[in-house]
Amino acid sequence: MTPPASLTTPLAIIGGGLAGALLATLLAKQGWQVDVYERRGDPRVEGYAGGRSINLALAERGLHALRLAGLDDAVLKQAVMMRGRFVHPLDGEPHLQRYGRDDSEVIWSISRGELNITLLDAAERAGARLHFDMGLESVDFERRIATFDTNSGPRELPFTTLIGADGAGSSLRQALQHYRPCEERSEWLDHGYKELEIPPDANGDFRIEANALHIWPRGHYMCIALPNDERTFTVTLFMPLQGAAPSFETIRDGAQALDFFHRDFPDAIPLIPELVEDYARNPVGKLATLHYQHWHLDDRAALIGDAAHAMVPFHGQGMNCAFEDCIALANHLARDRGLAEAYAAYEAERKPNAAAIQQMALENYIEMRDKVGDAAFLLQRELELA
Ligand code: FAD
Repeated sequence: MTPPASLTTPLAIIGGGLAGALLATLLAKQGWQVDVYERRGDPRVEGYAGGRSINLALAERGLHALRLAGLDDAVLKQAVMMRGRFVHPLDGEPHLQRYGRDDSEVIWSISRGELNITLLDAAERAGARLHFDMGLESVDFERRIATFDTNSGPRELPFTTLIGADGAGSSLRQALQHYRPCEERSEWLDHGYKELEIPPDANGDFRIEANALHIWPRGHYMCIALPNDERTFTVTLFMPLQGAAPSFETIRDGAQALDFFHRDFPDAIPLIPELVEDYARNPVGKLATLHYQHWHLDDRAALIGDAAHAMVPFHGQGMNCAFEDCIALANHLARDRGLAEAYAAYEAERKPNAAAIQQMALENYIEMRDKVGDAAFLLQRELELA
């Protein structure tokens, strides 16, 4: 049975995170009946239950998508502009490397929680129905029945089509894998990350240059820090998960972390007063690049964002790329030529782009941790900009 790709077709989006909420806004504005099923509670009522990366770099690709949804002004109000990388060498003066010639070429630091709430509000305003505390459990694609885990037990709902915006661990993708293997290839990075915080100074101001993405490059490992609008910075330490020091295996507790920072990041120590506590308390995050051969199943399901193509965060492009998916899928659905055809056209358009940025993100890790402090690299950049 092929359901008509008309504006009366109900679309069920799984996941009300960044991509799910933006896609819901775009599609509801086009007139589709949109239901969003989100595993967590409503962050506007219960507070944002983050989990990872407190803030994100928003670049022109993502901003363009927000502009098309009419949300750029609202989002930029919460953002802190970053005009370049502020590099903190172990020996030598910290210095700014601009991203472009002037402030017309910048990126923005944005709180994941605030952004998610802005997008959910927009989706609801556009007419999408949001259902919280409903995590997709399993899917019977033959009968078109989806089973959700709810606070009152499992609940079965019939569906016409499901769009998976449920992140890197996507339950919809897992259900698809059971039904028709997606030819998965996962590349786990042997480096992980841990988040730390730079609070405001005694006057309530930023402790270091606010309008920059700070990097402490140290060869095989590094720290970065992105500003938050409440004048804090979220610091992320990236280093090997296992093996010779320094690694998360060898630096196991706050005291060892303090010794490590004294040796390798001495200028960061006065900035992170709760370094010992943060290190002990915060989990080590793992990072992977996930490749799937198929992003859709005829007219019954499609995947977007991290569910389709999770990537390592070193280009700061996972969300930006997910937002581009939303625009592409909404455009193909607007052409009114059947869901299966729209999904296939979306997949054909976005898969090569996602693969390219996944590869660039892996390469940028080497550049960030190894080359931004390198004199030859800096000379090359200067020549590029000249
Ligand atoms: P998610 O944001 O993961 O949202 C998925 C949603 O689905 C969540 O709300 C989740 O609760 C919900 N969900 C999950 N399972 C179910 C289920 N079974 N049923 C219903 N709902 C479900 N990207 C950038 O562009 N810039 C950056 O600077 C950047 N920095 C990053 C730093 C780190 C450390 C990491 C790990 C990632 C970073 N990213 C960055 C990538 C970015 O976080 C992701 O690409 C982006 O969040 C993808 O959005 P999404 O909506 O596809 O998935």
